Amino acid sequence: MESAATRLAEVEANIARMCKPARREFEDITLIAVSKTHPVKKITPLLEAGHRVFGENRVQEAQEKWPTLREQYPDTQLHLIGQLQSNKAEEAVELFDYIHALDRPSLLKALAKAMDKTGKRVPCFVQVNIGDEDQKGGCPIKELPEFLGKVCEVNIPIAGLMCLPPAGIEPAPFFAFLEKLALDNGVEGLSMGMSGDYETAVRLGATHIRVGTALFGARGD
Ligand SMILES: *Cc1c(COP(=O)(O)O)cnc(C)c1O
Repeated sequence: MESAATRLAEVEANIARMCKPARREFEDITLIAVSKTHPVKKITPLLEAGHRVFGENRVQEAQEKWPTLREQYPDTQLHLIGQLQSNKAEEAVELFDYIHALDRPSLLKALAKAMDKTGKRVPCFVQVNIGDEDQKGGCPIKELPEFLGKVCEVNIPIAGLMCLPPAGIEPAPFFAFLEKLALDNGVEGLSMGMSGDYETAVRLGATHIRVGTALFGARGD
């Protein structure tokens, strides 16, 4: 088995390799190590190797794992990458530095309330339902400009747009489309790309890639 540090070096080398033809800078891409389902003992080696940006998809799991780790590594940046229920908004705002799945008015309202109450404004990525899939979360493409306007109205900092392209088909057109939507709407960040397609995402402008399996190995789920 490769060590976590070796895997990290490999993923970083792949990112750097894709930057060249895309004329991008390695520093402009944030690698979010998605540690969901993985225990603390698998996370520590990456922290020891110097990595500081991590992603979790469940508030409760993150609350169990991260407060102690953060005492040891206070400069850690934590991203919530999964669906968020409105009743968990306050806990999410307290724990996370970025939230990636702001996708509906009810959640917007809950997050705004939580940020007002805690006095902490957490930058959010607005998730777009880029493949127009019925079962998937994300703001409908047609409603994006209006929704972004609502996010601004309640003073939630917009970190960018986020997407999960449809499974099983070439993701590149969806990444390119998200990039265009960001450009059209004057939004800078792009959270797109996972273990199977982060290189394509980097080529097409991702500023944040969310990589789990390629760093930690398969999840037991
Ligand atoms: C789990 C997850 C990832 C990471 O997936 P891998 O294929 O393990 O890299 C990225 N984004 C979201 C939203 C996820 O839920």
